[in-house]
Amino acid sequence: MQIPFFPYPHVFTEHRDDVEAAMNRCLERGAFILQDELEEFERAVGNLAGVAHVVGVANGTDSLMLALRVANVGSGDEVIMASHTYVATAAAAHFVGAKPVLVECREDRLIDPEAVEAAVTDRTRVLMPTQLNGRIADMDALQAIADRHGLVIIEDAAQALGATYRGKSAGTFGLAGSISLYPAKLLGSFGDGGLLLTDSADVARKLRMLRDHGRDDEGEVQMWGVNSRLDNLQAAVLLPKLRHYSETIARRREIAAIYDAGLRGLEQIGVPPGPNSDPDRMDVYQNYEIEADRRDELRAHLRERGVGSIIQWGGKPLHRLNGLGLASDALPYTDRFFERCMLLPMNTALTDEELSYIIEQIGSFYG
Ligand SMILES: *Cc1c(COP(=O)(O)O)cnc(C)c1O
Repeated sequence: MQIPFFPYPHVFTEHRDDVEAAMNRCLERGAFILQDELEEFERAVGNLAGVAHVVGVANGTDSLMLALRVANVGSGDEVIMASHTYVATAAAAHFVGAKPVLVECREDRLIDPEAVEAAVTDRTRVLMPTQLNGRIADMDALQAIADRHGLVIIEDAAQALGATYRGKSAGTFGLAGSISLYPAKLLGSFGDGGLLLTDSADVARKLRMLRDHGRDDEGEVQMWGVNSRLDNLQAAVLLPKLRHYSETIARRREIAAIYDAGLRGLEQIGVPPGPNSDPDRMDVYQNYEIEADRRDELRAHLRERGVGSIIQWGGKPLHRLNGLGLASDALPYTDRFFERCMLLPMNTALTDEELSYIIEQIGSFYG
């Protein structure tokens, strides 16, 4: 069997006919920039997430940066985030002139509120939890910290569209939440794309100007802005995909349940929280991140048997990326986690037969 970690052509073929028809409708009208499909897509995501405003942008990194700009975060300010996140989270802070401050994650792979509390200084402005692997952090604890210290929450929900915590959707907790539409993400476009979610009409208005050269609805330049619009064509592609989104999430949760049942009994493996393990959360499983004894050998064993796997972020947390000036020896939990963590295939192309095969190969590796 050959099971790639992520089958990129599936992003196109899964809903091929619907997507081709939607693209053609858009192309034949010459509707490329800030057109009807984009507005319709933004409204549809708003309905899905239960949020008042959605703003489509060029990618899930610009979105973080634009949210920080709206919050007037800049030079001298500190932004607290987990070291177990993508470099994009830190880059967004860096490029508005702020300093990323890295903290530990917990056993469920998400930012540790106690570590956040300990990292707050008088320069802290923002808490930027990453809703990693399609699961939402402990937002009650983070909100309490934000309230106590007068901080803004901006969620990096790149991996969590549709996940909920106590009934509230990822991306809707703070000033604004960011979603990525990168092809391998839960809602994957045919290239780059991103979204910002916010309940504030004022924040949404500023974000719409920021993404379009600072222009208002009349085309009048009101402020400095950038070019970071979500292509209308990507919105056209994503609209039919969004109509199938609840099936996508249901299947990912089913896959997680199959992995959980197959792997939880192995003492050499640490599985993530199962899909029905927490009444407060509905996880959407962007990734299935396990911990494994002899991780590198296991990955080689799987590779030889046709099964692709990766280690998130290319294998290193942010405080181990040389060249960013974020090196630290103060994050031992995250260091230990990165000696053991890896991602198994998690996507809607996987069949039950393939999942059984993957689980079997892991079992046979440990004997
Ligand atoms: C994918 C991702 C991003 C960046 O998204 P892009 O759309 O690729 O810019 C940011 N943060 C996290 C946690 C991600 O997984």
